[in-house]
Amino acid sequence: MNTTPMNTGYHVCMSTGTLIGSTAGIFAAAGAFAYAVRGRSSTVFGPSVYHGDRRRPALALTFDDGPSESTPELLKILARYSVPATFFMCGENVQRLPAVALEVAAAGHEIGNHTNSHPRLDFRTPEFIYREIAQAQETIQRHTHRTPRLFRAPYGVRWFGLRSAQQRLDLLGVMWSVIGKDWRWPADRIERLLERAPDIHATLHAVQSAIPRIQERGFRFETVSQILCPTK
Ligand SMILES: [Zn+2]
Repeated sequence: MNTTPMNTGYHVCMSTGTLIGSTAGIFAAAGAFAYAVRGRSSTVFGPSVYHGDRRRPALALTFDDGPSESTPELLKILARYSVPATFFMCGENVQRLPAVALEVAAAGHEIGNHTNSHPRLDFRTPEFIYREIAQAQETIQRHTHRTPRLFRAPYGVRWFGLRSAQQRLDLLGVMWSVIGKDWRWPADRIERLLERAPDIHATLHAVQSAIPRIQERGFRFETVSQILCPTK
């Protein structure tokens, strides 16, 4: 039985900024599937400012809410295509599946902070918000030996106190990523795929079929940090 504290399903943000959501039943913890675009497309990363080499098309694939029981399957797909990704993990799930969290880190993927228990942060006190994020940070560090530098708010909901919590923990907010309007086809395609994808298996299938098509179009996959601070 899945004991994950959240059943949020995945959520995908596309070029319009529209949140495409779906509840994915009780095995939903594998989480969100979103893209960041850099290069020819404009990039919007929530509150962060980004300027980069627009001639270099690259994408970040991100997965929220894990780790979950299906994460190893996702890792296999990413390894098959040599695609690095960014996993925004929840502390409670890292606590629940520490070996899986470590496997994600060992595979070279980036790990971000997605709070401890995945609460909505609105109408919460600054202390509550700080505690949620600090606890996740501590759990992730303990089990993966990585210190997240990126934070994504559950449901994209931000609230007073979040900014100072991020500052104290040295976390950059990554709300979600937006695909530029000049890069329609894969976004629409994936959007349609995911609208029909009510469970994690369909999400995995969508990832698997989207990756080679995106690569064929000349885009490279990178972690969110690589996109924000390119070294090549
Ligand atoms: Zn989430």
